[in-house]
Amino acid sequence: MVRCDQCGFDYEALSLEEVSSELDRLSVGFVEVLTRSEPEERTRLRPEPDVWSALEYSCHVRDVFLAQRERILLALVEVHPLFVSMYREQRCVLDGYAAQNPHEVAAQLAMAGAMLTSLLSRLSVEQLGRTCVYNYPVPTDRNVAWVFQHTLHEAVHHFEDVRRELGAGAPPEVDSTT
Ligand SMILES: [Zn+2]
Repeated sequence: MVRCDQCGFDYEALSLEEVSSELDRLSVGFVEVLTRSEPEERTRLRPEPDVWSALEYSCHVRDVFLAQRERILLALVEVHPLFVSMYREQRCVLDGYAAQNPHEVAAQLAMAGAMLTSLLSRLSVEQLGRTCVYNYPVPTDRNVAWVFQHTLHEAVHHFEDVRRELGAGAPPEVDSTT
């Protein structure tokens, strides 16, 4: 998969520096749409019974950031590790995504995103080239750089979902030099 048919994300379009600044931009975007949606209950509305609400998608992205960080750290230590599934559907129920506070989720997502980009900023070319087996969409040998690209794709893809549901604008531009 080089380009996502649904959101248009291109895995080869961005440098890792750009991935980092885009992750920051998306985090700001999620915080804005989650904390400014009025009434707050809108964030909890599922457009269809089997389609997640904006709040549930945001909880998912927060957990993706946290899970990917753990996976990347594992790949920096173990040789070619295989990752356990996130169990996204089960997590939504087990962690009660629908009942969480959107303002708290926004803050948690921003913190998880910052932890991920902080890790990215520390890695050498050699570390970014370390390999793992990534199960999605089908088990494939990947490297750490790709895992960062894929994490950004998750954020971009689900920001589109959230934006569609809440009728919000594009994520804001952030100064990538800071
Ligand atoms: Zn996509």
